Amino acid sequence: MTLPARLTAIVAALRPPTALPMTLTPKSSLDELGLDSLDRIRLAAAFEAAYGITIPDTALADAHRLGDLASLIAPDSTVTPAQVELVGIDELPVPRPAPEQLPEAFVHPTADLGIGAEVGPGSRVWHQAQLADGVRVGSSCVFGKGVYLGSGTRVGSQVKIQNAAQVFGADIHDEVLLCPGVLIVEDPTPRAVTVSGVPQAAEDWTPSPVTVGRGATIGAGAVLLPGIRIGAHALVAAGSVVDRDVPSHALVAGNPHRHVGWVCRCGWRLPGTTCTRCGARYLRRTLDQPATNYIV
Ligand SMILES: [Zn+2]
Repeated sequence: MTLPARLTAIVAALRPPTALPMTLTPKSSLDELGLDSLDRIRLAAAFEAAYGITIPDTALADAHRLGDLASLIAPDSTVTPAQVELVGIDELPVPRPAPEQLPEAFVHPTADLGIGAEVGPGSRVWHQAQLADGVRVGSSCVFGKGVYLGSGTRVGSQVKIQNAAQVFGADIHDEVLLCPGVLIVEDPTPRAVTVSGVPQAAEDWTPSPVTVGRGATIGAGAVLLPGIRIGAHALVAAGSVVDRDVPSHALVAGNPHRHVGWVCRCGWRLPGTTCTRCGARYLRRTLDQPATNYIV
């Protein structure tokens, strides 16, 4: 067996600069190549993106030599996980109360609403939460203690943002859950000062806000990097660092994040395209095809 050129290129790029030069063969062990556990996760992520497969955690744990990875490549693997998403085929619209049926928004006296910030009916903003100037929030949301929503943030309805989550500008769709300590940043080139050496002002940088799709959950302590899009009903595991787009209904974990499975609207992990808890059914489709062009 010979190693594919793409695989050897990926490994060569990941090897530490201090590693001894060596010829890459199927028998080359990951240890000999100087790849530590974090490098192996990076290797798996790059391998998945290049070959369009998801490496099960068990297969990654059992991969000790480059040949082990090469043997995972299926000849017909052409669709990467990032190009596929799940679509619910029997979702029913959920009735919501009309805004006029909801009570007025509650804002705790210690919370801080900036100039022009708007909070919809039925929403509750708890202790020491801070909403920057112009932030707009829909109805029936809950923001826990110490939540920060930066300038330009838009929040839909029925969104729950738990204690100390920090959102420096983002578009948060309906029914999203941000668990405690989530961090969403929007500056792709953060610097304290300009090249002239003076402190940066608002006009010195171009914000790149994150989008979190309807019904998605971001686990505690996860970090979302600028400009990425989280698909509807996706689930980001606690502590993940998400550095690229996540498809709808995807389950991702790790730093940098990896696509490790699919989840139902109810939050249950999907073994196939039917949920074993709630019975919801799904179709897989490629993102660059019309919605009617399903591949499964
Ligand atoms: Zn379900």
